[in-house]
Amino acid sequence: MTDRYAVVGNPLSHSKSPQIHMSFAKASEQDLEYGTIEAPVDSFKASVEAFRQAGGKGINITAPFKLEAFAFATRKMPRAEYAGATNCLKFENDEIIAENFDGIGLVNDIQRNLGFSLAGKRVLMLGAGGAARGAAIPILEAGPASLTIVNRTRATAEALQAAFVHAGPIRAGGFTDLGSEAYDIVLNATSASLRGELPMITGSIFNPDCLAYELAYGKGLTPFLALARSQGARLADGVGMLVEQAAEAFEWWRGIRPETGSVIEMIRVPIA
Ligand code: NDP
Repeated sequence: MTDRYAVVGNPLSHSKSPQIHMSFAKASEQDLEYGTIEAPVDSFKASVEAFRQAGGKGINITAPFKLEAFAFATRKMPRAEYAGATNCLKFENDEIIAENFDGIGLVNDIQRNLGFSLAGKRVLMLGAGGAARGAAIPILEAGPASLTIVNRTRATAEALQAAFVHAGPIRAGGFTDLGSEAYDIVLNATSASLRGELPMITGSIFNPDCLAYELAYGKGLTPFLALARSQGARLADGVGMLVEQAAEAFEWWRGIRPETGSVIEMIRVPIA
């Protein structure tokens, strides 16, 4: 029987996951189906359980269900545990195993695809929501000189610092704490760009060789990227992160590492 996987979220109309996973499957000659489950917001559990009972092997999870999926799991892998959320479940016998590949997907895109080493760099992350939480440990594991997290709600950034201070040089604050320091890598992990908004930053945070990375993807030249461009920064959006986290999930499920470069090119929307 063909193995079945799916992405679960609401809404899902713009999900690229089926296209990405079916491309991986074709290239690696894996016999699988990958569909979509647009679960009603109040019935994540029932929707996923029906898929699992029907023989489903695993799911990816997107907004707004990453926390609910975490609670649904019977076993949590370390990356899911420290993120407090999961973007990937594997169904194995009676177990529901949770992983979180968002952070490692981001780091792999920056280091492998964009060729930008994090080691020794001053990294600034804007935002302290789910994506930032998942990214903090993989970034610290890459050995930056510092990881500064600023958030509109300062207390959320401070909670991240408290949770991850054991893992490396992490600082936290609000946007008003950003002084004259310039950074080597600035990650926009806020959801401001989804509404065409700019977080409370000025161009002085980007040093001349800076990589400005917008975690959102397919949004073109967002206000964040436009500001970064005006400072001469190199620009990237989250399409590579999306494909790299999918590759991690594919390997976890299937035991085969798919090639990502051609898939990134296939779904990339030019920034400008
Ligand atoms: P969350 O809802 O968990 O967090 C949103 C964050 O954005 C919070 O820190 C919030 O601050 C902040 N925020 C929202 N609006 C503004 C604003 N106008 N100015 C400043 N800060 C703001 O979202 P996620 O962490 O899940 O997603 C964040 C971004 O990452 C999104 O753009 C999403 O599309 C992208 N993403 C990309 C992925 C990929 O594979 N490329 C995967 C996952 C996410 P506060 O705490 O004060 O509310």
